[in-house]
Formats: sequence, structure tokens, C-alpha cells
Amino acid sequence: MGRPMTDCLFCKIVSGDVPAEIVRESAGALAFRDINPQAPTHVLVIPRDHRPTVAELAASDPGLLAEVVREAHQVAVDEGIAETGYRVVFNTGPQAGQTVFHVHAHVLGGRGLNWPPG
Ligand code: IMP
Repeated sequence: MGRPMTDCLFCKIVSGDVPAEIVRESAGALAFRDINPQAPTHVLVIPRDHRPTVAELAASDPGLLAEVVREAHQVAVDEGIAETGYRVVFNTGPQAGQTVFHVHAHVLGGRGLNWPPG
């Protein structure tokens, strides 16, 4: 089990100390709306346990990573974007734009998404 980090924003969302618009909950994961949405649907899916990056989650608990990805798909179903298409992104490391080091899957959709991303 990853321990909650007292200085981690997303651990505080898990504990309820920081409010969030939660859209899905499962045993191991939580999904809530991004505070600065980049698309009509922009939801973050996180493991309840603290892991800094997707690589560390994959190494320590691949089953939990699978749960995060399943929940990401369920968010897309709930939001009505599973058929038209959506993107799941794990920014990993500073150069890729990761700013919160509690792993999170961005679920983006509801508009056309460019490729390659910026
Ligand atoms: P990253 O840049 O890939 O690490 O993504 C972090 C995301 O967290 C950004 O898209 C932020 O807009 C989002 N974010 C930061 N603080 C909050 C919050 O308090 N609630 C919901 N989303 C947040």
C-alpha cells in the first residue's frame, strides 16, 4: 500500500481535505473533474494510494494500474464519449508536463483532438 503524503494535493482529494467534483469511485481509484479543463470532458483518474508516476505504479501494483485504466474507460462511457473517441494520457516527468506527482490518467474528449500533441 502506498502511504498518503501529507504534502500531496491528490492525496488530500482522496482524504476529502481538498474538495473535488468526483464523478466515479472504485475500491482503488477515484475520478474527478480537472480544475482547468482542456476539453469538454477532462477528468482525472487516480489510484487512492500514493504513487508518483505511472512507471512506479506499473512496477509496484500492475493490478491497480489496470483498475485506473478500466475506470478511465468507464468515465468515457459515462460521459458519452466512448463511441466517438477519447484520449487517456499519463504525463510522466517534468518535460512531459507532469506537475502533480501523484499518478493520474487524464481522460479527454468531447471535441476533435490533434495528433501529435503539443
Ligand atoms: P499534470 O500537469 O499532468 O501533472 O496534470 C495535473 C492536472 O491537475 C492539471 O490538468 C491541473 O489542471 C489539475 N489540477 C490541479 N489542481 C487540481 C485540483 O485541485 N482539482 C482538480 N484538478 C486539479
